[in-house]
Amino acid sequence: MFPDPVAFVDLETTGMTASGDRVTEVGIVRIDGGRATEWSSLVNPECSIPPAIQALTGITHSMVASAPTFADIASEVATRIAGCVFVAHNARFDYGFLKHEFGRLGQAFTAKVLCTVKLSRRLFADAARHNLDTLIERHGLSSDDRHRALGDARILWAFIQALYRDRPADEIDAAVGRILRTPSLPPHLPAGALDAIPESPGIYRFYGLNPMPLYVGKSINLRERVASHFSSDYRSANDLRLSSELVRIEFEETAGELGALLRESQLVKSLFPAYNQRLRRRTDLIALGVMAEPSPPDYLRADVIEPRDLHGLYGPFSSRRAARETLRDLSAQAALCWRLLGLEPRTGPCFARQIKKCAGACVGAETIEAHHERFRQALAPYALRRWPYAGIISVQETSLTGERTDVHLFRDWCWLGSVDDASSLHALLDAPPRAAFDLDIYRILCKRLPRLRVHTYPRDLSPAH
Ligand SMILES: [Zn+2]
Repeated sequence: MFPDPVAFVDLETTGMTASGDRVTEVGIVRIDGGRATEWSSLVNPECSIPPAIQALTGITHSMVASAPTFADIASEVATRIAGCVFVAHNARFDYGFLKHEFGRLGQAFTAKVLCTVKLSRRLFADAARHNLDTLIERHGLSSDDRHRALGDARILWAFIQALYRDRPADEIDAAVGRILRTPSLPPHLPAGALDAIPESPGIYRFYGLNPMPLYVGKSINLRERVASHFSSDYRSANDLRLSSELVRIEFEETAGELGALLRESQLVKSLFPAYNQRLRRRTDLIALGVMAEPSPPDYLRADVIEPRDLHGLYGPFSSRRAARETLRDLSAQAALCWRLLGLEPRTGPCFARQIKKCAGACVGAETIEAHHERFRQALAPYALRRWPYAGIISVQETSLTGERTDVHLFRDWCWLGSVDDASSLHALLDAPPRAAFDLDIYRILCKRLPRLRVHTYPRDLSPAH
């Protein structure tokens, strides 16, 4: 069932930023025991209202001049929302504004939040738009006082009623449940710790009492990802232990996924967070080196690889063990010899020969040269790719909001750095750092380059290593 009590809330404001702009009107429709009560008040923002916003909302200076300030109505607002699930359209906006208004008065404000944009998105995944006007049209809602706080709050309540009229209740309840499933916070985190985390791409670090992070993660939606560590449904034993130690969260925003992946890779390699088992494995990536002359493959760590010459290198493999597994698979497919692949000591017929799976290079049934040639052919699909550009390339990523653009520079599969403004880009291009080859970065780039827009630079801009 839909949460009860619930408060449908809409605010009018002087602008878009909760930290700097102020509330000019509050409208609340509270449903308690199925009964609706409505309340709204204009609010004197104690600052000017931009003309464009006056035109949009119809709320003018003269209307708010004699209205109460937020301080005057704060306790009324708190009482009307108390105990309710807070429902708003693009709820982060309204919730953030109220939090800041209460914060200015030295009061904490927290509520369970349900965003009707998210709800609409979950239930109408194919629809391109979920703004209030779209909802009004899609669900045939009446909209008398559009762009006024109470008018818009009523529309949200009407939207929910329309949903229960048009869609199976269990479907709606499941969607609501998924959105509300946010998290009882870990015991040592301050209340509201999640509110500071943006819903943008980036990386986050969990800290205990120790200065080294417990965990590093990345996401295209930081807040959602961080919250998912604490939501009861998905909690693993690992997350439970992590929660009990967690006292502080830090995050860094990036414009997009690539920037987050690069930064995560860098942090995991330098910090070795205790709870990052999966990620730590990425620091153990290796490549196989196979010469033209017959000899068993070498197992090479990235730091001994010269990025300009990847000829004869294969991988990356997540560990020595994974590489050996691949060799055994190749042996099974191509009747290759375990002994010559270095999978077992060099005496007598190999294990594969004994079970008739080796073509017999170990017993002279095939020349070592012919075997090696077949081995290199079998490995060919794993060959590390040559850098397909003349020199440096840049990849630009812009956030969905358009507020942030990151430029990442690479050469020879090496990450030279990322910047978010033009002057730093020039500095980086003028003196690109010497970057070590890194199989994790290689893998990240290989997978994503085909989908990225790459800008290349003339060769003279890319001095050799
Ligand atoms: Zn053999």
